[in-house]
Amino acid sequence: MLAVDWSLPPADEAGQPVARVILKPGKAKPFYARHPWVLDKAIDRIAGDAIDGDVVDIVNEQGKFVARGLFNSRSRIQVRLYTWNGHEMLDKAFWTQRIARAIELRQQLGYLTPTGGARLLFSEGDQTSGLIIDKYGEYIAMQVTSLGVARRLEWLAPYLVETLAPKGIYLRTERGVSQAEGLELKDGLIYGEAPDGPVFIEEYGLKYGVDVGQGQKTGFYLDQRENRLAAARYMAGRRVLDMFCYSGGFAMHAAKNGQAKEVVGIDSSEKAVAMAAANAELNELTNLRFESGEAFEVLNDFVTRGQQFDAVLLDPPKFARSRSAVDDALRAYFRLNRLAIDLLPPGGILVTSSCSGHVVREDFLDMLGGVAQKSGRHVQVLEQRGASADHPINTNCIETEYLKCMICRVV
Ligand code: SAH
Repeated sequence: MLAVDWSLPPADEAGQPVARVILKPGKAKPFYARHPWVLDKAIDRIAGDAIDGDVVDIVNEQGKFVARGLFNSRSRIQVRLYTWNGHEMLDKAFWTQRIARAIELRQQLGYLTPTGGARLLFSEGDQTSGLIIDKYGEYIAMQVTSLGVARRLEWLAPYLVETLAPKGIYLRTERGVSQAEGLELKDGLIYGEAPDGPVFIEEYGLKYGVDVGQGQKTGFYLDQRENRLAAARYMAGRRVLDMFCYSGGFAMHAAKNGQAKEVVGIDSSEKAVAMAAANAELNELTNLRFESGEAFEVLNDFVTRGQQFDAVLLDPPKFARSRSAVDDALRAYFRLNRLAIDLLPPGGILVTSSCSGHVVREDFLDMLGGVAQKSGRHVQVLEQRGASADHPINTNCIETEYLKCMICRVV
């Protein structure tokens, strides 16, 4: 069934540890605190023979069990941890139970309708580091970001077929992962049949076409679902700019659920702009238009020409890919938000997002404070929001809190 070209053998279904990874003295604390990533610098030595993707135990310097996970010598994250219970094996049943537990939440949230889009499983947020599962109507996208999970794909995908009966499953990869994990996976359909065109989903009264095989992320930004609706509440009668519009989500919500007067959506990707226009047509919305453009250039141009909007939505791509990139990212957020604020009259609305996990909420707010100061405006945060509930935050892995979405009034 699977068309994955994979050089390592499938994992042993019994899931018993084959080696012990001994931590350096004093390095066990974060793992007692249940952080799931054991970096190479925490490891003293390995006792036993483990090949990449095998089950291992991590033990403290006295040899005492700390946690159980999957080993990968090719990654900076040498062990990803999944259980702190020494009696629990990482067998097939363990994995399917984790998936079932995650799907149960999305069922409770009401996302499992035939035309619903949802993140069924969110990596560390669901204690399944390295695996993301999204559902778009009757199609599924699996995003595998760890070698250990890739070696288990041959049992995990059939489980999804059994329980969800999808028409097709796509495998999606993330930029940089092959290098980070030493993992050669290709994007593509791994089960079922490809749809004729886009897969259609519904979100709060709006329909979207999603390109599950090739669209950005796994095809759609599910994490902003509730924020799109929340932002719409502030849009009545306004002229709205949706910068970084992708397939038109914020723009269409502003027009339909928010009764905005007029909406302009801009994205640098021609493909995204075409999708957004098609989506607007699908929803019979006429008071919006989409154009391609580079955000900083377009904003600068608007400011120079004295153009104004009553609301500006900013949802840029990740600016900080590592901790060392945080300062540069904050400067870019500053420039972007400064330009946006210059387009707003007093009482204007700014909906500003950041999906850089390394830029923490407090720093993002601080950045907005700087923008307010430099522009001589008063910026009021009306709502501080995060990702939708199908992207749960793992309190032991705070990196899972990555999305900030602030709805502000600028006076
Ligand atoms: N708001 C969207 C998601 C936006 S994701 C939604 O709700 O679905 C970020 C978008 O920014 C992507 O579509 C990407 O194509 C676009 N992008 C990236 N760099 C850009 C740039 N410099 N100028 C304009 N758009 C850019």
